Amino acid sequence: MADIINLLPDHVANQIAAGEVVQRPSSVVKELLENAIDAGSTTVKLFIKNAGKTRIQVIDDGKGMSDTDARLSFERHATSKINSAEDLFSLNTKGFRGEALASIAAIAHVELKTKQENDELGTAITIEGSIVKKQETTATSKGTSIAVKNLFFNIPARRNFLKSDAVELRHIIDEFHRVVLAHPQINFSMYHNDNNLFDLRSENFRQRIVHTFGKKTNEKLVPVDEDTELLKISGFVGKPEFAKKSRGEQFFFVNQRFIKSPYLNHSIQAAFEGLLAPNKYPSYFLNLTVDPKSIDINIHPTKTEIKFDDEPTIYALLRAAVKHSLGQFSVAPILDFQRNAALDTPYHQQSDNVSTPRVEVDPDFNPFSSSKPNKSTPSAPAWESLYTGIKSAVNNTNDFSEVQFESDELQSSIFDEDESKKVQNTFQLQHKYIISTIKSGMVVIDQNRAHQRILYEDFLKQITLKGTVRQQLMFPLSFEFSTKDSEVFQTLKEQLEHSGFVFDELSNKQVTISAIPAALKESDVAKVFNQLIDDVHNEVPDFNFSSSDLLAKTFAKSLAIKNGKKLNVTEQEFIVNSLFACKEPTLSLNNKAIFKTIEITEIESKFN
Ligand code: ADP
Ligand code: MG
Repeated sequence: MADIINLLPDHVANQIAAGEVVQRPSSVVKELLENAIDAGSTTVKLFIKNAGKTRIQVIDDGKGMSDTDARLSFERHATSKINSAEDLFSLNTKGFRGEALASIAAIAHVELKTKQENDELGTAITIEGSIVKKQETTATSKGTSIAVKNLFFNIPARRNFLKSDAVELRHIIDEFHRVVLAHPQINFSMYHNDNNLFDLRSENFRQRIVHTFGKKTNEKLVPVDEDTELLKISGFVGKPEFAKKSRGEQFFFVNQRFIKSPYLNHSIQAAFEGLLAPNKYPSYFLNLTVDPKSIDINIHPTKTEIKFDDEPTIYALLRAAVKHSLGQFSVAPILDFQRNAALDTPYHQQSDNVSTPRVEVDPDFNPFSSSKPNKSTPSAPAWESLYTGIKSAVNNTNDFSEVQFESDELQSSIFDEDESKKVQNTFQLQHKYIISTIKSGMVVIDQNRAHQRILYEDFLKQITLKGTVRQQLMFPLSFEFSTKDSEVFQTLKEQLEHSGFVFDELSNKQVTISAIPAALKESDVAKVFNQLIDDVHNEVPDFNFSSSDLLAKTFAKSLAIKNGKKLNVTEQEFIVNSLFACKEPTLSLNNKAIFKTIEITEIESKFN
């Protein structure tokens, strides 16, 4: 039988290897930025077109490459950074595998220009799908410029797999954040479609964080500093009250390299124990310095996962350091969300005589008797205990003074002896469900889900039909956001305008609006915007990213009446009627049931 094994040609091998290194435009950004840093640059500029799908260019002022090195840099396993496997354990560069440029050149059109300081002229190379198209000398300044165009031009399947520009750009900004935070002493700028998104000057770590995420970040930071033989920790954690609904701002840098580590993340989460509201994630920006010999970086092609020799000790040190900082800056005692509300009562109030709960319901009342209550009714004690418990709970807690037990209302209608009064068809249960009678029995409606659905369909119509009524604000409203957050507004600008917002200013830090949708209260705008940012950041994994849909959902979620809100009969009826006028009254925005029906036959069977 004939031999069947071939050695794959280099360009095919490179293309396969590229699959590991380059998943999306942001992977290219990461590799190019890292090379620029390894070259000892002081200023690095990143230019992006169409979220990197069309063009990614990095220009640095680093040491550049010789003619020969420029050509060699595109070969696989070509690196100037290590000579032997032992060197892996004394690394002080980002790169070492020598495969990024080879991989990128295998799946894109690449133009390189580079010059070393003492050379008169530099080198220009054009390479497309691993094939060198051109190499010539050129006049250029010291440093390197690499432009990567038409990513995945020869792998349509990968190209089709790319997400919307908004999503890909967010990945790029995420990578950019990781690199600029790890190297605050380097100047970085970033442009997307000619818009300047970042312009960061050499600065300290705290300034870099603030310039990356916005001025307001400053007041949120608590410093962490710990120096032990095994590990040096420096950086900041966010105060617990600013914890976010998404995991956005969580950064570990080990020897100036961003790494992902669920294990170490857990140690921070543990340090915050008891200080965070449910489903909130603390921000952290932590630099860990360890002996390069005590870690292995070469366990993942993208070099974002590493192995520590002594993970459990690092876990414990980290947790202790963060706990210590939170305590020292007296963040901890003020913000205990798990605390018992009763402990907040001032002492003089606690010592007040607590009055015995009074039973306000006439224990002798017999709903089945049309005559005056009869004191000897046998069922009386049962009724009494039923009401006493609830009444006493209500009376004891000041905070509940607003909460009215529904029997207050129900009694007047159900037990009303005057039959001629208007019949009430809807009732509220536990300030959460609206119950409405229907021919075949009754429906129990989740009020929050129902109102979300009603608002969602309404907003979606407004946004897509562009026929919104807007209200002009007396004074424009201004908000400050991090660059990443204000990208959300840039991306959704058109939809937001259709829904009724008018932007006076929309820069990468500042959002000023002079008109808002008529359906919105001025005081709700901040809430809606924050929800919007959270939703957009949390939607990243979603393949079908429809911005109108997202916007309508955000509005609906932030404005819908919540569970726990008491509704009067008119409001209850409004919800019931509007819900059943919806296109999709059955399913909530999270695909859960909005209402359940209970058939009269079901009720009857209970009495059998
Ligand atoms: P690695 O970074 O793992 O060595 P790369 O494929 O990213 O591998 O780069 C190959 C080599 O090309 C690097 O080792 C370096 O010598 C050179 N190189 C790449 N980018 C630059 C740059 N911006 N400035 C100077 N040299 C560079
Ligand atoms: Mg590299």
